[in-house]
Parts: sequence; C-alpha cells; structure tokens
Amino acid sequence: MDRYLRHSLIDWFPQERVQNCRIAIVGCGAIGNEVAKNLALLGIGNIDLFDYDNIEIHNLTKSVLFREEDVGSMKAEIAAVRLRELNPDISVTAHHGDFWDTLSLLQMNIYSSIIGCVDNFEARVRLNFLCRATCSNFIDTGIDSKFGQVSIFPFKHNNSASCYECSLPDSVYARMQERYSCGWLRNLAFIERKIPTTVITASLAGSLAASKALQLIVDEEPSNSLRLFANSFTGKTVITEIEKNNQCPCCSSLMKTISITSKNPSVDIVVSNFPNKNQIISTSEPILISMRCVQCNLGNDAKIIFERAEKYDSSLEICPRCSCESIALDIRDRFSVSELKEHFSGRNLPVKFIRRDSVDSTMIIEME
Ligand SMILES: [Zn+2]
Ligand SMILES: [Zn+2]
Repeated sequence: MDRYLRHSLIDWFPQERVQNCRIAIVGCGAIGNEVAKNLALLGIGNIDLFDYDNIEIHNLTKSVLFREEDVGSMKAEIAAVRLRELNPDISVTAHHGDFWDTLSLLQMNIYSSIIGCVDNFEARVRLNFLCRATCSNFIDTGIDSKFGQVSIFPFKHNNSASCYECSLPDSVYARMQERYSCGWLRNLAFIERKIPTTVITASLAGSLAASKALQLIVDEEPSNSLRLFANSFTGKTVITEIEKNNQCPCCSSLMKTISITSKNPSVDIVVSNFPNKNQIISTSEPILISMRCVQCNLGNDAKIIFERAEKYDSSLEICPRCSCESIALDIRDRFSVSELKEHFSGRNLPVKFIRRDSVDSTMIIEME
C-alpha cells in the first residue's frame, strides 16, 4: 500500500473502492491520454480503453503516453502499455476498433463511469444513447485552443437526469447530417472540421473529468446533469445545470422501462421474439436494402443488399452502367416483423441492436 501513502492521508479518498472499480475511456487522443494517466496514477483498478485510430506524428504535442517510435501503432494498445508502466498494480484492457462495435450494452453496467474523450458530435450522441439506455454514468469532454468543457450525466445515480442531447442545438444536427448524403450514405464531399487544441486544454479537461469520475465513486447521491466550462487563459469556470428537454430525441424516445438482452443476429432468431407480426422494429443504423437505376433499369431484378447504409458512400448514387444520377435507393431503419420474416429470412441483421418501443417500455436486443 506504500504507493498510495499520500492518498491515505486524504480523509475522503476511498482507495479501496477506487482499486475495485472499473472505468471506460472512449477515445485515446489528447484528452483520453490525460484522463487515462490520471486514473492510472489514482489507482483506478480496472481501466478499459477504446479507440479505433493509430498514432500520428501530430498527436505527439498533446499525448503524454505516446512516443515518436509509436507512430503508426494503435492508440489504445500503446496507451495500455504505458499505463501498466505508470502503475503495475492496475489492470488495463485495450479495445481497438469503433466503440459502437466493441462496447457492448450488456457490459456497460460494470463501469463506475464511461468517460467520452471523442472529437465529434456523432460519437458523443451515440455514446450518450448507450449510457442513457443502460443507466451508466457518462462524462463527456471537449476542448479547443482556449477552453475545456466537461459535462457530467449521472444516469447510474439518477436515471431521469437530462442527457447530452437535451441541450444539443439544431445546428449540430444539421452539421452531423452533412456527413451523409441523402439516405445515410457516407458523403465523400464531407470534410471534418479540425479543431485546434493544445495539451493545456486537454490536461484541463482531463483533470476535471478524472475528478468528476472520482466524485461519482465517492458520492452516489442522485444529482442533476452539469456542464463545466473552463477558460484556460483566465481560470474562470462557469458551471451550469443541463436542463431536461421534453422534446429530446434521445430521452423522449426511451420509455420508462428499458430491457436489454442479446441474441444471435439471425433475422429468424430475432423475429421469433415478436409474436405480433404487425409490430414495428427499429434498427440502430439505417439498412440499405436495394438499389435500382430508374434510367437503365440496372438492379431491376431487385437484388437485396441488406447491409448498413453507412458502409457505402455517395458514389453509389451514380449508376455504374449508364452514369446517370437516377438511382433509387431503398434505405430504412424501420421494419415490420412480418416484412423481416418474409423478405430477409436466412440473413443476419447488420446492425448493433434493434429496438421495439411500446407505450411504457423499450426493448433492446443487441446483436451478439
Ligand atoms: Zn435527453
Ligand atoms: Zn443506369
């Protein structure tokens, strides 16, 4: 216990609880590095790191865990190696890949907090949904060259706390939609806005986020969602309560009772859970069902594709045979049980989960 001698002098520091808990860090970039370093040194016993990306040379000005020889290696893997060096007492697991695929809804209740260190709104919206649906504490972070922002959504202690989408302006949805061409194909013309950041704002947000994660371990009293906005130049911090929005696309779609299970992705197995054939099922991502050229009739045999629409890009809107732009795409995220059974039997559902909402309950089935 010598390592934690100084912590033991702090009357509120629950070292044993800290060592027994598990925290997920989604995104191992600038802020993720800072959060991870803090949690490892605090002695958080189990840390799960999620990132799909590899280290690039320009990451080195902001990432305390990465070295020049790491360029090209996986961010999550290298961060895990360095955390184990910083504190050999803890267990660190790296998950390389998109968190949407690697973070299972059913495993989320093992985390004391899930800290989002991602750099785009779409990933925040997705992570917020996973945390809200599973009643997991969600801490979101964001930075630019001057400000650090940390929002705390304590869903584990207060499942009716306002969520990230409760306060999201319409302009953000418009910006998110620019990523996609009509019908959720990836828009090839979309250019990601690069936000300038420094290690100063990353470490500011990283220490606030780690501090809030620690508080959520110490204090399990229900509280409301908060946003901290800190100016790294002046030191001024503004704290606001995030108000509940009755029209929130996330909160208002989730019913009072939420059940989560997992099943084999086979359409036949999934539909067998729904005796009422007229029930409507939503999929977590839109599915490209078929495409057809109105001009030259390519695809008129109605070949079924049945893949995630986001796997395809906007080049699909141009006919490969006659080069016209009269391609009719059938892309949907809502299906009736009978339609799935009739047209897609024998296939696998190419989505993270499906859901069915009734008056008072939301049923989520995650694909195994
Ligand atoms: Zn909400
Ligand atoms: Zn054509």
